[in-house]
Amino acid sequence: MKYISTRGNIVPIGFRDAVMMGLATDGGLILPESISDVTDRLDAWRDLSYVDLAYEVMRVYIGDEIPADALRDLVNRSYASFACEEITPLVRLGHQFYVQELFHGPTLAFKDIALQFLGNLFEYLLAERGGGLNILGATSGDTGSAAIHGVRGKENIHIFILHPYKRVSPLQERQMTTVLDDNVHNIAITGTFDDGQRIVKDLFNDLAFKDDYLLGAVNSVNWARVLAQIVYYFYGAFRVCDMTGCPTVRVAVPTGNFGDIFAGYLAARMGAPIARLILATNENDILHRFFQTGAYTSADVKKTLSPSMDIQVASNFERYLYYHLGGDHERLRFLMLCFRENGELRVHTPGPEGVDPLIESGVGTTDRTLATIRRYHQSAGYVLDPHTAVGVSVAEQHMNREEPMICLATAHPAKFPDAVRQATGQQNVAHHPSLDALLSKDTRCAILPPEADAIKQFMIDKLG
Ligand SMILES: *Cc1c(COP(=O)(O)O)cnc(C)c1O
Repeated sequence: MKYISTRGNIVPIGFRDAVMMGLATDGGLILPESISDVTDRLDAWRDLSYVDLAYEVMRVYIGDEIPADALRDLVNRSYASFACEEITPLVRLGHQFYVQELFHGPTLAFKDIALQFLGNLFEYLLAERGGGLNILGATSGDTGSAAIHGVRGKENIHIFILHPYKRVSPLQERQMTTVLDDNVHNIAITGTFDDGQRIVKDLFNDLAFKDDYLLGAVNSVNWARVLAQIVYYFYGAFRVCDMTGCPTVRVAVPTGNFGDIFAGYLAARMGAPIARLILATNENDILHRFFQTGAYTSADVKKTLSPSMDIQVASNFERYLYYHLGGDHERLRFLMLCFRENGELRVHTPGPEGVDPLIESGVGTTDRTLATIRRYHQSAGYVLDPHTAVGVSVAEQHMNREEPMICLATAHPAKFPDAVRQATGQQNVAHHPSLDALLSKDTRCAILPPEADAIKQFMIDKLG
């Protein structure tokens, strides 16, 4: 399998180069040349364990770029850190209604599924080609901690994560700063998340620095992250088809950057038994508006109870758009330019089924999110985190009689105790021993001004 850029201006590359490149050098996003149809393999895959299924799904897009034994070892090690043998277990919440828990990794959010794998993959590729990698990223919470836990203690890799000083939740801060491995460097900047993103961008644009210090990124533009996420769509659909006897399912996905749901889109197009994807946003509803009207129009970011979905420009959307346009690079470049210049792009006027017959969408408002957490806690004794609750509240409006519904549960509720308290009116309904243990651990974190030069000097001092 070769990889291309959405913008059409790189020569096709192999899987290993695609992973190391991250963002395509022409400014686009990397995609496989074609989506593989695996319908003839579904019966063979149906009863596989999570890790065996992960191996098979990944092999479709990795081919012989990584030997079979090495890939098996990578997959096994990546999911050995999960606290649940099923990795992404399904929990029945009602008639024909399930949540698929993606939060059993080390940082209790679904990003572990991709970042545990990416950390091991980077280590493997570096051992093979020599040299090192210095990962630099800015975080508003979940991604930073998942990335740190993905690469802690790894050979030839250092990671520098910027977070806004005292502006991430105390739990999220401790999930990062209690990691004391020598290769992990937490930096609290005395500014905002946007300052952090600007600094990261500035340093990546400092090409001499980027090359001398081998800077790499871990944000959701990396193809390997999408690839690792395709797996749980197959796994969940197989389990629920099995339990209900139905041939297909619907999957509701709480979405911010369109990364998670884009993996679902690929799974469905590959032939996973998924009849519909239900895209759920919070009040930051640019994606919902697009799927209703065909217009992708940016707006100001609103702060909600589901902060990991407080995003207006979805970095993976370009990948979807490329397929939606039938692979027309030129039209894609034109539309992305429109968006950059005017904050808006439009595709053809949608028919009665919306922009895409595979994707329905809805908004989980703050009120509805709180009511949903409260209701499932009272009626089923199940505590939803606020991101998952956005998904569940939208899923409920998109049920039909023929197909069971799965909602992806993207974080453990104990990560968001304030929202859970607000919803249930009770203290301490959501607990997790690994979060409780953070309170007594030592921390390490540098505090620096929000200036690219200060961060650059800090990195040079650490790396020698
Ligand atoms: C990152 C995140 C999301 C959104 O995922 P995308 O891939 O950006 O759509 C949803 N929920 C939680 C808990 C997250 O950390």
